[in-house]
Amino acid sequence: MKKVLIIGAGGVGNVVVRKCAQVPEVFGQIMLASRTKSKCDAIANDIPGANILTAQVDADNVPELVSLIKSFQPYMVINVALPYQDLTIMDACLETGVHYLDTANYEPKDVAKFEYSWQWAYQERFKEKGLMALLGCGFDPGQSQIYVAHAAKHHFDEIHYLDIVDCNAGDHGQAFATNFNPEINIREITQPGRYYENGEWVEIPAMSIHKPIDYPRIGPKESYVLYHEELESLVKNFPTIKRARFWMTFGQQYITHLTVLQNVGMTSIKPIKIQGVEIAPLEFLKAVLPEPGSLGENYTGETSIGCQIKGIKDGKDKTYFIWNNCKHQDAYKDCKAQGVSYTTGVPAMLGAKLMMEGVWMKPGVYNTEEMDPDPFMSQIGKYGLPWEESVGLELPHEY
Ligand code: NDP
Repeated sequence: MKKVLIIGAGGVGNVVVRKCAQVPEVFGQIMLASRTKSKCDAIANDIPGANILTAQVDADNVPELVSLIKSFQPYMVINVALPYQDLTIMDACLETGVHYLDTANYEPKDVAKFEYSWQWAYQERFKEKGLMALLGCGFDPGQSQIYVAHAAKHHFDEIHYLDIVDCNAGDHGQAFATNFNPEINIREITQPGRYYENGEWVEIPAMSIHKPIDYPRIGPKESYVLYHEELESLVKNFPTIKRARFWMTFGQQYITHLTVLQNVGMTSIKPIKIQGVEIAPLEFLKAVLPEPGSLGENYTGETSIGCQIKGIKDGKDKTYFIWNNCKHQDAYKDCKAQGVSYTTGVPAMLGAKLMMEGVWMKPGVYNTEEMDPDPFMSQIGKYGLPWEESVGLELPHEY
């Protein structure tokens, strides 16, 4: 019987625990550990019939992690805490000889900057210990790269143009809320945008390139070019790519709130002192915003995330579009979650399942596009995120 330790009891952690509990033949025993144990208990007690252990852990603290891992002895850790904890959890996995998976790349707390270099630097150490670390196995990053690997394997000789298009056409009924951790989300959106073209990164002011993109069963939605971490690994692993961009939709109400918050300094990560206490305005803002895990119950509408690809097959130009649409209410029915937590947690569970079964097991540090896409693509529909594709048709937006 293999055991899994899940760290982080937020919106995504809730989904990962529930999905793992649906596959007891693989995840023989589950422990959910997080900073606030009562949140772990609330999730565990709400899953009928499942035997889920819970624990308190500060994942910034390697010795604490090591002693928890030694006492539970899991086969692997699924890290769905925050990107700040990636390196400490990887260190603890190395020390205890346990495999690792996460859904977002490392970010230092004091600089709003994310890149893979810090985690790729663990490559040799994981290899030497015969351990595997699978990085960014949510939807985007995660399933988006598996879509590209599937396209490369089954549809193209060379991929030239890639646009990852991410739409949330849902309504949670709140004036302003973020769909995943507010601090991480706002850091991502307020930093300069970046995309890859002809071997170089092109930096643009935040949210400065935008246009309506037509999403399946949703229609046109204003979409903005952002920097997103999977672009870094995709252009490295598919060097024929000439241009790679990431687009995300934002409603006008969201942008108006964010602009005001930025203008008054509430999105700053530089700590200030108030009544003798040092706090970053963005951390304070996070504390007053709704938790992502709390948005699910009344969420309506759906998400649509896909990859639009142009390249060459048998000497001819070819276009290809692959995507998933996920209704927030279906996510709530399955996991008491909203669609963004759900689309992140389901691929994390399936990535972990394939590692536990030895299907995706090789020592080293990998991004998801480096795995064989077939076992993932053949199972992900069954677990809640079926994909659709259109081959050789006009792409939903022009190039
Ligand atoms: P939440 O804020 O809802 O949850 C984060 C959880 O981590 C909380 O329970 C929090 O504890 C816990 N945590 C924070 N710091 C520590 C610590 N030092 N030790 C132990 N536990 C800690 O965020 P989400 O669930 O929305 O996001 C989780 C992860 O998923 C993030 O890394 C996010 O970037 C990633 N993500 C990835 C996506 C993808 O498609 N790849 C999409 C969406 C999110 P507490 O409850 O006490 O605050």
